[in-house]
Amino acid sequence: MEKNAKPYVIAGPCSVESRQQLREASLQLSAIHGVRMIRAGVWKPRTRPGGFEGLGEPALQWMQEVGRELGVSYCCEVAIPEHVDLCRQYGIATVWIGARTTANPFMVEELCYALGGSGMAVLVKNPVCPDVRLWLGAIERLQQAGIADIMAIHRGFSMYDNQGYRNAPLWEVAMELRRERPDIPILCDPSHIGGRRELVAPLAQTAMLLDYDGLMIESHPHPDDAWTDGQQQLSPDQLASLLAALPSPSGNAAAGNPGLEQLRHQIDSIDHELVRLLGQRMAVSRSMAALKRQFKMSVYQRDRWDDVVSDRLKYAAEAGLDAGFTKELLEKIHAESVRVQMEDRAQEA
Ligand code: PEP
Ligand code: MN
Repeated sequence: MEKNAKPYVIAGPCSVESRQQLREASLQLSAIHGVRMIRAGVWKPRTRPGGFEGLGEPALQWMQEVGRELGVSYCCEVAIPEHVDLCRQYGIATVWIGARTTANPFMVEELCYALGGSGMAVLVKNPVCPDVRLWLGAIERLQQAGIADIMAIHRGFSMYDNQGYRNAPLWEVAMELRRERPDIPILCDPSHIGGRRELVAPLAQTAMLLDYDGLMIESHPHPDDAWTDGQQQLSPDQLASLLAALPSPSGNAAAGNPGLEQLRHQIDSIDHELVRLLGQRMAVSRSMAALKRQFKMSVYQRDRWDDVVSDRLKYAAEAGLDAGFTKELLEKIHAESVRVQMEDRAQEA
């Protein structure tokens, strides 16, 4: 995969439905500037049984034939070793591991075994649950199996409350993966995050503003007639408009701009001040720990903590800060304060 030109766009139907649908989609999508590869689901194990579950081997044969005819490359999901073997047989050089599979290290291990030595490129979707270690683990297993060409795909997480999306984006979880593995390019799949057509473009925009390397977007020549995920697929025209309207990922192009530099200086000094104040706050916690120890008080005082939170939330509202963010921040600070005070008690023991 040539990963340098951003965004790396993979587009295509959720599922292969017929030779004609595959050809029509491929013809239209490969003509769109920026589309580098066509996705097309061949095996579709649905969350619940009874739906359309993919056409299997005949779809792969069409992909091989149409790919040769039009000069396009395809990728599809693999979930069991037999899928990998069939992809190899039909010349599919890029596959992805789906969200349900990434969540299962047994299956990832089986796939690694089948993929080892194949030279295939592998895209790793995040696991359905927001556990970044499973995502990292799948990437590590693939690397241990000798797979060199790997990218991650952020497709959102299945939560009790998906925040109005099909899968909650939880951008911070993907951010953690990026911090741990800056060497692994990451694509966003706004189709499976959004679940609805109108959410796809804003999510793709967010991903570009967060400096993602690319996008995987579901697109079908006739989305309303799609056999799977019709409500989230874009027509090729809609995809072309989405891509044309994306903010250009120009990296740090404004570096050196005097306005930006000045604002960055402000951020630097505010952060320095924040860190200095946090240090002071923890020093006060230590002094408090000694007093609490002297008076045989417990470290955690629930009523006091409730008062602190409601007081700070009032200040936060005046400062225009988001209440959820403020609460989370306070909880982090409080947890550290409790840890510091416990250290004091441990010394006493
Ligand atoms: C898909 O891309 O069609 C798909 C099933 O994805 P996921 O594994 O993200 O649910
Ligand atoms: Mn789909």
